[in-house]
Amino acid sequence: MPTVELKSQITNLVKLQAIDSEIYALRSEKEAKPQEIKVLEAAFEEKKQNLATLEKKLLDLLKQRKDFELELASKEEATKKLQSQLYSLKTNKEYSTMLQQIQDSKADASVVEDKILQAFEQADKIKTETDTEKSKIKEDEKFFLDEKKKVEDRIKVIDDRLAQLEAQRKQVIPEIDQKIFSQYDRILANRDGLAIVAVMDNSCKGCNMLVPPQVVNLIKMYERLITCEICNRILYVEE
Ligand SMILES: [Zn+2]
Repeated sequence: MPTVELKSQITNLVKLQAIDSEIYALRSEKEAKPQEIKVLEAAFEEKKQNLATLEKKLLDLLKQRKDFELELASKEEATKKLQSQLYSLKTNKEYSTMLQQIQDSKADASVVEDKILQAFEQADKIKTETDTEKSKIKEDEKFFLDEKKKVEDRIKVIDDRLAQLEAQRKQVIPEIDQKIFSQYDRILANRDGLAIVAVMDNSCKGCNMLVPPQVVNLIKMYERLITCEICNRILYVEE
């Protein structure tokens, strides 16, 4: 290929690389987006789960309190029953035994009463906690939806830009020799979206390794495409 021709081919490759670098960066950014949404979603789900746990705890406590109240009622009923039997007793011994039973039954009831009071206190505490979390969850949901929308909007911007870049790419490619293009395209796919790199201060801008002066001279002769011995990318010199 004549020198002038190869020089202009390289100019086109550099132009194409600028487009492809942007495409590569945007695609990488876009690929990470679903994971970003997942992370936001998981954080919100965790908060919802916490609230559900609190609500369940409150329900359990209320149910437990109800059970204690039933238990208290039956204990009070038992005490009443004993008391009603008190006057039908014949002997003093029977009478004092019954009095003791009534005493015990009242003591039992008092223990259950304490449990009810405790359940009230605990339920109040958890109710306050639940109410606080409930009002916070609305903010959390708003935050989640806002952040999710930001990510989705960014994806739209990326898609629009990618479409523009693809169109630009289609304009540049026909100006490149097919063999040169397929070499470029192969390296692009294998080398993280970077196929042609400048040599600056005797080093390859793709891998930062030294490019010997004789190789730089070869590049400047524009007789054929020269690639980096280390990273295999096409080399060029800015003039
Ligand atoms: Zn290199």
